[in-house]
Amino acid sequence: MTAARAAFDGWAAKSPQERGALLAAVAEGLSERGDELAVTIATELGMPLPLSRLIQVGLPTMSFASMAGLLLEPQAEEEIGNSLVVREPYGVVAAIAPWNYPLHQIAAKVAPALASGCTVVLKPSEVTPLCAFTLAQICHDAGLPPGVLTIVTGYGPVVGEALITNPGVDIVTFTGSEGVGRHIGEVTGHNLVPATLELGGKSACNVLEDADLQQAVTACVTRCLLNSGQTCIALSRLLVPRELLSEAETIAATVAEAHTLGDPFDADTKMGPLVSAEQRERVREHIRRGIDEGARLVAGGPDAPEGLQRGYFVAPTVLSAVRSDMAIAQEEVFGPVLSILGYEDEEDAIRIANDSRFGLSGAVWSADEARAVRVARRIRTGQVDVNGGAFNPAAPFGGVGCSGNGRELGRHGFDEFSYMKSIQL
Ligand code: NAD
Repeated sequence: MTAARAAFDGWAAKSPQERGALLAAVAEGLSERGDELAVTIATELGMPLPLSRLIQVGLPTMSFASMAGLLLEPQAEEEIGNSLVVREPYGVVAAIAPWNYPLHQIAAKVAPALASGCTVVLKPSEVTPLCAFTLAQICHDAGLPPGVLTIVTGYGPVVGEALITNPGVDIVTFTGSEGVGRHIGEVTGHNLVPATLELGGKSACNVLEDADLQQAVTACVTRCLLNSGQTCIALSRLLVPRELLSEAETIAATVAEAHTLGDPFDADTKMGPLVSAEQRERVREHIRRGIDEGARLVAGGPDAPEGLQRGYFVAPTVLSAVRSDMAIAQEEVFGPVLSILGYEDEEDAIRIANDSRFGLSGAVWSADEARAVRVARRIRTGQVDVNGGAFNPAAPFGGVGCSGNGRELGRHGFDEFSYMKSIQL
């Protein structure tokens, strides 16, 4: 904390171009060491190696490069009447990251914070800390001044707690579970320190009756199972017209069963194990509870997948006949489990999609794009994909309700780390 504070004035005083050049060098370093980082993350987390390379390394590289790009653009300052409105960096950032996209979530915080002129004390997840050390080496090699990025490691309730309660912190940025998010919100609220909280989700994929069912269900299952379902924006609820339920179940089961489980380093593997024994047990318990509550098992299940004696594997699982009031439709499972729910009409589909305390992501499929966009506007979440619209790393990312607050990525993510000051002339 002392190092971050001592480094702040010098770092904030650098020109945007100087900071941009350093961030561009970090992006280059990430790209050069991409293969090594992909192996580290595949080993720590269990995501298949090619996906690790593409997503777990690709996205953070883009985050640093895009912040460098923003800083090289002319920085226009707003004038309102006799006021000049300027932005000032908050100061020292406490950044706390989870394990599921370990380097991406770190980069989504560290890159815009550094770009804004803040210094950062970062605590990576204790489950996946290694990629943070590689990032630190890359920053060092790129010439980042001492103290601008500091890394502390350890357990959340010990090291994380010490970090968020430290009086030297000017702003907290957290990605993780709802429970820890609530706690951090309480602490920072009490201390009057701003905090951005990126929490969990229970996102719905609304397939309207005029959509291409095969395409929509295939895309939904694939998105649900990415990273073994350990993705905050996983589409874990599939909403289909009641009369198409049985057809949707058949498609979903076929797609789920084609997700070959195995060693993340084996070329045939489409889905790796879960991150830990604890996570596997949590997911199995969710599946058992769903079945107990009346959901029908269409694929997978809570038992160990055949032929895989080692590793924390859970078979890609599809549950149907799920009702919105069941725990499986309300709680974030954070594993490879899709719930299928039937609806009566468009209004009912929107009602079910919004029947969640979370509000992170969602999807709408329809043959009529204008209709899909109309529905998307009524879904109460931070982002909605229409007809498989691709993830956009320059667009604001974040949630509403119990999915948290604040936005990451792109210009909006950058703005989170500075406050506005009006200078009256
Ligand atoms: P977690 O809340 O258990 O841990 C996240 C981080 O918080 C870890 O670094 C942990 O050490 C730290 N921590 C724990 N207790 C703390 C405390 N008392 N004080 C300070 N820090 C503390 O979450 P996780 O299991 O690592 O990640 C999974 C969760 O993250 C899921 O709920 C997922 O949806 C969510 N997530 C959200 C987003 C998003 O952008 N909205 C992205 C990815 C993951």
